[in-house]
Amino acid sequence: MGKLAGKVAVVTGASKGIGAAIAKALAAEGASVVVNYASSRSGADTVVAAITAAGGKAVAVQGDVSKKADIDRLFSETKKAFGRLDILVNNAGIYEFAPLEKITEEHFHKQFNLNVLGLVLTTQEALKYFSAAGGNVINISSLVSTLAPANAAIYSATKGAVDTITASLAKELGARRIRVNAVRPGLVETEGAVLNGFTTGDFHDQYVKAAPLGRIGQPQDIAAAVVYLASDDSAWVTGETLLVSGGHR
Ligand code: NAP
Repeated sequence: MGKLAGKVAVVTGASKGIGAAIAKALAAEGASVVVNYASSRSGADTVVAAITAAGGKAVAVQGDVSKKADIDRLFSETKKAFGRLDILVNNAGIYEFAPLEKITEEHFHKQFNLNVLGLVLTTQEALKYFSAAGGNVINISSLVSTLAPANAAIYSATKGAVDTITASLAKELGARRIRVNAVRPGLVETEGAVLNGFTTGDFHDQYVKAAPLGRIGQPQDIAAAVVYLASDDSAWVTGETLLVSGGHR
């Protein structure tokens, strides 16, 4: 029996990239998974099909998790599909790099609305669905919250906020047996990272040079850490931020 048998998990932004790998890994350990997506219906359907083909349970639920009404619907659909909630993985996020002169209100709000406000609102809603037995929240932060690279002030700030929110909510919710942790990926080869040009050229080469393990990450590297935090293997771990970056720090 899998480590997460009988559990129900919501993974935001799971139609591709890190979120898709997390959804598949949680399902492989026995969790029933809600595969949330914003626009890629076909991506989400592919993830659900892969989980189902492997003998797992999953449904795709559309919802922009920077919007309260969509968040409310995401959790009510979860309850409808699987009857309960045990694990929330706040993975949906956007990354836009820009030098100071190019920072606009739009650049700021777009990233903060999803990466920070969305994460807070999903957690707030999840609280209504966790049972008295507790719950588990795993936030996908980033190496940049401490690395703070040039030309990424706003994105890095969103992830700094995620780390602080993780620590604060862990203290607030511990008495209700709700654990709150974060995983901080380094550079991972995903659709989004490829689109931004991060997985080739200088950006890639500098990362590989700086990382003791000499490679960029794959989505499965992050999913394995999330499974650890979602399972009772980490029963006494909360408020932690786990750096998974090949040693780059
Ligand atoms: P990605 O390949 O760009 O995929 C993003 C996912 O988020 C997609 O499933 C997308 O859904 C979904 N999404 C975007 N906006 C959304 C919204 N408003 N509501 C719901 N879902 C939304 O991203 P990724 O590289 O896997 O990154 C995932 C997370 O890891 C992010 O939080 C990112 O900051 C973090 N991270 C990534 C890296 C990296 O190197 N890749 C490193 C550190 C941290 P649709 O396709 O349906 O729009």
